[in-house]
Amino acid sequence: MTVQDVLDLIRDKGIKMVDFRIVDVPGRQHHVTVPATHVDEETLRRGLPFDGSSIQGFRGIEESDMVMRPDLDTAFVDPFTKVPTLNLMCDVYEPSGIRYDRDPRFIAQKAEAYLERTGVADRAYFGPELEFFVFDDVRFDTGQNGAFYAVDSEEGIWNSGKSGEANLGYKIRNKSGYFPVAPSDTQQDLRSEIVLALEEAGLPVERHHHEVATAGQAEINFRFDTLTKTADHVLLYKYIVRNVARKYGKVATFMPKPLFGDNGSGMHVHQSLFRGEVPLFYQEGAYASLSETALQYIAGILYHAPAILAFSNASTNSYKRLVPGFEAPVNLVFSQGNRSAAIRVPVAGVTPKAARIEFRTPDSTSNPYLAFAAMLMAGLDGIQKRMDPKALGYGPLDKNIYELSPAEKEGIRSVPGSYSEALAALEADHEFLLAGDVFSEDFIHNWIELKKTSEVEQVAIRPHPYEFYLYFDL
Ligand code: GLN
Ligand code: MG
Ligand code: MG
Ligand code: MG
Repeated sequence: MTVQDVLDLIRDKGIKMVDFRIVDVPGRQHHVTVPATHVDEETLRRGLPFDGSSIQGFRGIEESDMVMRPDLDTAFVDPFTKVPTLNLMCDVYEPSGIRYDRDPRFIAQKAEAYLERTGVADRAYFGPELEFFVFDDVRFDTGQNGAFYAVDSEEGIWNSGKSGEANLGYKIRNKSGYFPVAPSDTQQDLRSEIVLALEEAGLPVERHHHEVATAGQAEINFRFDTLTKTADHVLLYKYIVRNVARKYGKVATFMPKPLFGDNGSGMHVHQSLFRGEVPLFYQEGAYASLSETALQYIAGILYHAPAILAFSNASTNSYKRLVPGFEAPVNLVFSQGNRSAAIRVPVAGVTPKAARIEFRTPDSTSNPYLAFAAMLMAGLDGIQKRMDPKALGYGPLDKNIYELSPAEKEGIRSVPGSYSEALAALEADHEFLLAGDVFSEDFIHNWIELKKTSEVEQVAIRPHPYEFYLYFDL
């Protein structure tokens, strides 16, 4: 879109406000709104000043002046505001006019540019599948213990024995949510409404369905695209999911493991490389129709996985999902069709163009700009170093990995067991991210410090509810 296109859109759609948005380092969106009467060519070209010191992961107070400049291709009309509003995703600049190097969107763009410079491919496609839970309510005690309760009205009725409000005959049991029709599925309309809002915002959706966990886990699949665009789409998706849920008086969460004993929510990421019209991951007749390039890309991801997880599974809660028995991966192997492997290669009905790998470890607590960039850099490193996943001990392994005997498990590596381990892995292994100046030492160091001090250490010093169960009477 040109500046003129956006100005026309503002006029034609009767837009009254223009919302400028940026993403912070952990991955939350922030915004500032300007009356459309104040938005002219100059504003759209130069952007708006803002205070970088209040944005998590950005600047100190002593050098806090920054500028957000819109990427006009991201324009969409907000489906939730009463006042007609146009939303624009922005890039962050220093006051001097150079790009701000801690802007996650900049890192994503640099990763794409680096891919082209290597000559390996001219573009990478990313197709994330974000699962989430919809609860009726949530209770926080943000005080000392940070206690949290997810509330489900049916669950509540079940527990309290109230009757007459809902019929529990069709309540979905744990791990049985995939995917009975209504009345078991009570959220079909809610998901359909999310889909309509996404399409209205310009993001094509392929399907939606109830997910495996008990009542309220959902998945909606939007179309894959190139790296930065897809990361923009992830933010758009979260925004729309949360706001439609709110309209229904409910609350959506993307946290990876809100409920013990049931499936968690992942963000599997499908990936492939193209040069012109040539898909680089397909080789007819090979194992899972994988080309040499695809195998090397897989090896790069699995080799660097412990470090990648510092970005792709970016919370202490993430590691409660990565346990056996819930369709989340635990072992660093690849396999065709196998949902217990960290990398699954879809084989059903796959054409050369659709040939891709699915990295199943990530979840939605990641900042998608950083997580996708880290995956691409790891895959590229695998290609450049001609890594062989078989020689490195990453499979293929076509068995249910949860049920392997100890002897069969010999030599198979696991994902890090905690966020602290993943951050330590990133500390030890990040050379591959520095290639082409995509990530900087400063950024990685800042990330590790931020996540350690404001998350890992904060969780570690708080008494956990289960500790009461274990120790209260000891
Ligand atoms: N919810 C599972 C996970 O945590 C995936 C379930 C599925 O999509 N088959 O990754
Ligand atoms: Mg899916
Ligand atoms: Mg799923
Ligand atoms: Mg999947």
